[in-house]
Amino acid sequence: MQAGCYSAGMIIDVHTHIFPPQVMADRERFCQGEPAFAAIYQNPDAPMVDAEGLVGAMDGEGVDISWAVGFPWIREENARLHNDYLQQAIQAHPKRLRGLACVHPPADWAMREAERSLGLGLHGLGELAFYDSDLDTASLGAMCDLAAEADAPLLLHTNEPVGHQYPGKAPMTLAALYGLITAHPATKLVLAHMGGGLFFYAALKREVSDALAKVWLDTAAAPFLYRPRAYGLAVELMGEDKLLMGSDYPLLPVSRYRREIGSPEAGLSPEQLALALGDNAARLLA
Ligand SMILES: [Zn+2]
Repeated sequence: MQAGCYSAGMIIDVHTHIFPPQVMADRERFCQGEPAFAAIYQNPDAPMVDAEGLVGAMDGEGVDISWAVGFPWIREENARLHNDYLQQAIQAHPKRLRGLACVHPPADWAMREAERSLGLGLHGLGELAFYDSDLDTASLGAMCDLAAEADAPLLLHTNEPVGHQYPGKAPMTLAALYGLITAHPATKLVLAHMGGGLFFYAALKREVSDALAKVWLDTAAAPFLYRPRAYGLAVELMGEDKLLMGSDYPLLPVSRYRREIGSPEAGLSPEQLALALGDNAARLLA
């Protein structure tokens, strides 16, 4: 297999987290001045892996390619460290890894760092996230424009505006998300965690399904959130080309997703399943 060369039926995981060894070795230090990072990773039981750990897990699970994403660090030096590490990771594993650069969009250095990272050869932006507020659509809009100019996908953290609370669940609104989408129709936007349920509104008779023309959903963390039928509903309402398997690894292994997305309750045809497990992702990012 060559980089950028796919065959049908590949397994592609569009949502994995890897961290530089320095962060894994001293996560306490990186919690300082980084409340979102601390909220998720101060807990020593919150798993972290580096690129080698991810590729080893991919080998064990039969995953051909993974998209590895960064973290929305508040401090520029942390973002640079992480984005540089992602670049090294994709260089070391060009057939196995794609890398998405991450910044904290409202930071005054965000555009500079995002442009630098794309210039290094990273394949897109993500997982851009606001973990303690609604989406800041002004600063995210600039990132959407950059991604559209680069013809690169932007993976955005979204979550349900209702339901049970968990670490990393943001007080985000579907109105802000929909406003961002409609203001940036040229941006290839991947909405993590089933898009916060936005796909339901693709059933509306007017506007929404057109507005979602360049929007995809990933399944990250969905086994903790949704009954498997949600995958079938997303495919039915948004289209079979829109669902992307993302694992949030090391949160959960890919095998868990393959079981649930392929389950009778999900109700996907074999063709739809192959699209969700990799073929859709292959079309989105070569
Ligand atoms: Zn997320």
